[in-house]
Amino acid sequence: MRVAPAEYFGFLNEIKDVSLPSAHDFCAGVPAGTLLETTIMNPTTTSTSMLRGKELTRRVDIGALPKVLLHEHLDGGLRPATVIELAAELGYKGLPTTDPGDLADWFHRGAQKGNLPEYLEGFEHTIAVMQTPETLERVAFEFIEDMHRDGVVYAEVRFAPVYHTARGLTQEEVIRSVIRGLRRGEKTYGVEWGLIVCAMRHMKKSLEAAELAIRSRDEGVVGFDLAGGEEGFPPKKHVDAFQAIERANFNITIHAGEAFGPKSIWQALQFCGAHRLGHATRLRDDIEFLPDGTMKLGRLAQYILDRRVPLEMCLLSNLHTGACKDLESHPFGVFFRRGFRVCLNTDDRLMSDTTMTKETTLATEHFDLSLNELEKLSLNAMKSAFAHFDQRIRIIFDRIKPGFAAVRTRLAEEERQG
Ligand SMILES: [Zn+2]
Repeated sequence: MRVAPAEYFGFLNEIKDVSLPSAHDFCAGVPAGTLLETTIMNPTTTSTSMLRGKELTRRVDIGALPKVLLHEHLDGGLRPATVIELAAELGYKGLPTTDPGDLADWFHRGAQKGNLPEYLEGFEHTIAVMQTPETLERVAFEFIEDMHRDGVVYAEVRFAPVYHTARGLTQEEVIRSVIRGLRRGEKTYGVEWGLIVCAMRHMKKSLEAAELAIRSRDEGVVGFDLAGGEEGFPPKKHVDAFQAIERANFNITIHAGEAFGPKSIWQALQFCGAHRLGHATRLRDDIEFLPDGTMKLGRLAQYILDRRVPLEMCLLSNLHTGACKDLESHPFGVFFRRGFRVCLNTDDRLMSDTTMTKETTLATEHFDLSLNELEKLSLNAMKSAFAHFDQRIRIIFDRIKPGFAAVRTRLAEEERQG
């Protein structure tokens, strides 16, 4: 279904309703389940909107809901069997085991050490097997295949090309190989995508990475990111790279507030011009929780709320890296219900043993979300994507809204039949 131009305006009004918090949202401390019910008014939503949490995951196939993923690392999402096969092809001997089940366990165990530097250790192996055009293309194709199986309709995936030149590829060749795989995947499965080029905080080559991203933008690169351990490597050290991106009218997301506090987030926004924030978990440090159940936002949190800065939140990854000690202390629910523009992401599907379906199920059950709130999360993500505006609208109207509407219709039908 194509959207007629006149409907764009209706879309804008509707999205405004969806994205802006209701009066309720300004009353922190209101019990979970009473907020953010400002979404699309549809006769079939009345009873189905009562479904939430475990009751919702029992009645609805979360895997089939149209989901949007903005924060996933290409080298953090390989299938264990693929890692083993590619290692054999390339003659890489460094894997701790060649049994897919044991290797999966090894990655998951390694990721659960509770700090970011150790979490990042597993990447040594995945990067080692992504060093030829064929291996890069295969990993990218399988990424799209996995997205399709996970009910994801649009996905942005990121990686640092600089890590994939050990066997002589240029960074351009690395990018082209990945894009070949992504395109082939889209052709096969219809999942749309965008590629994000990462620079690494501890390296000095961020300007080179930014220029590579800009040169590749017509091929499918949609933005630029700064990744890697935060501590000791503030984003402002890479200002040259971000200025190059800004001058090219291009897109910036930055990992910030994962292992480090609000200062890292502030720098990402105000020194580096980030349009989105990866994680931003520690933004909670800029919010004061008052005894009466309300919360007082600091200047930074208020700015992020007011400017609708998208927060790419990753639940399980945050538990594994120690950004949060448990789900109870994870700020996702607080941010979402206070009206921040949050979305759910996987970060590293292999290391964190996760999928979009798993993250969405976890969020639904733990934070007692409703179907309308799940739709809002998909819309938040799609509105925040680095895809062009027309593409975002098309996906919202052709994929996301019809997908949720179909579920509401089915639930209403089931209720009518008792
Ligand atoms: Zn990440």
